[in-house]
Amino acid sequence: LVVLDGVDKWYGDLHVLQDIDLTITRGEVVVVIGPSGSGKSTLCRTINRLETIQGGSITLDGQPLPAEGKALANLRAEVGMVFQSFNLFAHKTILENVTLGPIKVRKQSKDAADKRGMELLERVGIAHQAQKYPAQLSGGQQQRVAIARALAMDPKVMLFDEPTSALDPEMIKEVLDVMVDLAERGMTMVVVTHEMGFARTAAHRVVFMADGAIAEENTPEEFFTNPRTERAQDFLGKIL
Ligand code: ATP
Ligand code: MG
Repeated sequence: LVVLDGVDKWYGDLHVLQDIDLTITRGEVVVVIGPSGSGKSTLCRTINRLETIQGGSITLDGQPLPAEGKALANLRAEVGMVFQSFNLFAHKTILENVTLGPIKVRKQSKDAADKRGMELLERVGIAHQAQKYPAQLSGGQQQRVAIARALAMDPKVMLFDEPTSALDPEMIKEVLDVMVDLAERGMTMVVVTHEMGFARTAAHRVVFMADGAIAEENTPEEFFTNPRTERAQDFLGKIL
């Protein structure tokens, strides 16, 4: 569904992504881990072309990602993204946050968008707070709204960049539960996370990045019990 072929990216002199080959199939859950600065966030932003690349190619559902313009906007709408910071619109209600994209970009009627929006809020357990504003919700609740908002666009793939890193421990689980549910429903997901429990239970594949390159990829069972590279052994030694 998403194919990166020999992707290279530079920030000035820094070769931040080095010849990345990565194929994500439909329904697959790929967890990306690695040390700070290894390029995980850059990889996510590259997949929906928030960042330009200097070499290689990226295709989504067989289509090359256009560099700019309306075609890019359309394609980007197919890629849902959830960040560490929830980035909700502070002056819009929870429901409006979820329906804005479908109404503006997908040209849905307000009624249709509201109906679908409420279904999604129901799914993430926030329906009873649809008329509140983001500041009235906890971090975990806001992040679940951010997930519902991304899902409202019917994305083909969902990218998560450390979605639980900014949350208090008791809120992490409620967000991970929503992500596990999404995975079980067959959503294609790329998840950057330090939550090894999620990686073990929900991931089909773990991609380990180091210094801008994919150092190792494997099933979670193999990766966690039998890391092959010294970098991965070292990393796991520090976090587990
Ligand atoms: P973390 O675990 O800390 O989030 P990461 O693996 O997500 O790290 P990236 O944010 O992708 O790492 O950054 C990779 C490298 O690129 C780092 O060395 C970082 O300093 C550098 N970098 C990131 N964004 C920019 C930018 N806009 N301009 C220049 N360098 C950048
Ligand atoms: Mg990052």
